[in-house]
Amino acid sequence: VGAIEKEEENKRKVNIEEYEGVWVFAEQREGNLMNVSIELLGEGRKIADKLNTELTAILLGNNVKNLADRLIKYGADKVIYAESPQLDVYTTDGYTRVICDLINERKPEIMLIGATNIGRDLGPRISARIHTGLTADCTRLDVDLENRRLMQTRPAFGGNLMATIICPNHRPQMSTVRPGVMEKAKYNETREGVVEVINPDLKEEDITAKVIDYVKEKRSQVKLEDASIIVSGGRGLGNPEGFKLLKELADKLGGVVGASRATVDAGWIDQSHQVGQTGKTVRPNLYIACGISGAIQHLAGMQESKCIVAINKDKDAPIFKIADYGIVGDVYEILPELIKGLENI
Ligand code: FAD
Repeated sequence: VGAIEKEEENKRKVNIEEYEGVWVFAEQREGNLMNVSIELLGEGRKIADKLNTELTAILLGNNVKNLADRLIKYGADKVIYAESPQLDVYTTDGYTRVICDLINERKPEIMLIGATNIGRDLGPRISARIHTGLTADCTRLDVDLENRRLMQTRPAFGGNLMATIICPNHRPQMSTVRPGVMEKAKYNETREGVVEVINPDLKEEDITAKVIDYVKEKRSQVKLEDASIIVSGGRGLGNPEGFKLLKELADKLGGVVGASRATVDAGWIDQSHQVGQTGKTVRPNLYIACGISGAIQHLAGMQESKCIVAINKDKDAPIFKIADYGIVGDVYEILPELIKGLENI
């Protein structure tokens, strides 16, 4: 076993100085760029600037060259666009093979992938194939400039700890990053860059999984990620009826209703409303937390909100530590007052 381990370890040894550049996997579905890819271009741009290196977007697909120009305008210096009918829809084999070939040939220092369903499938497959590490589901990225190391932070131990992970001896340093946590790159109409089109030699028989059909997910009624105002409810509401009051306030403010996991688990509201580590990550202009204690797993999904208002009857509730405005009181006294106040505006 020792000899096998040693051989495996040797396989993984690389001259890290040969590796240069930051790559972002530009995920597209049916010709639409995923928001997380635009967020990663914003983050990748910052990292590339700090490391004084190039930012490259890796785009795979068929007949989606028009997206390459948008990737440049969102901050990429270069786009490598791999075009093939076999890449029209995502398959693990096809995408893994093309990206691994590119990595082996061009040796990027860092590779960032959105932690979408596709990214969570693709990232580990690539990292295993090229013998490097992968930090999954990061919520923050930074660089240690002296050692050119990516500092990859993610929740660990059920979200009770934020762990910062490094990949000291292997390259590229790979992360999947949670959608919604990074700010989107700004679109700059005047930006220019290089688009390189490659046509990978992929045959139908190279792809073992055949996609027969796509069944579209039933759209959730709420679009929490895009809402600028969220009125969120927790166990402190006491019963599902409490959400009616929240909806009334949300409607008055032009916002939507969010929820803590405790209320979703209790069956008071649909999971599509859940905010937090295992729910949606949101960054609205205004987040009103009603009867929510402020567990770390809830904060993970909303602490980037611009203004946080917390209503809780316990003055020591952890939510008050991150709230911009705190109201100590019973939601059933405060909320009707707020709604009444808005009627008079
Ligand atoms: P509680 O913690 O019970 O808080 C209720 C609060 O309401 C208390 O602070 C109380 O003082 C206050 N209150 C009571 N009555 C009133 C009243 N009448 N008026 C005003 N205030 C009142 N949680 C999430 O939210 N999202 C997640 O995505 C998530 N993911 C998780 C993932 C893992 C792996 C784990 C282990 C946990 C996760 N959790 C998540 C659960 C999380 O740890 C908490 O249990 C949950 O957030 C608590 O919900 P809550 O604040 O509604 O309830």
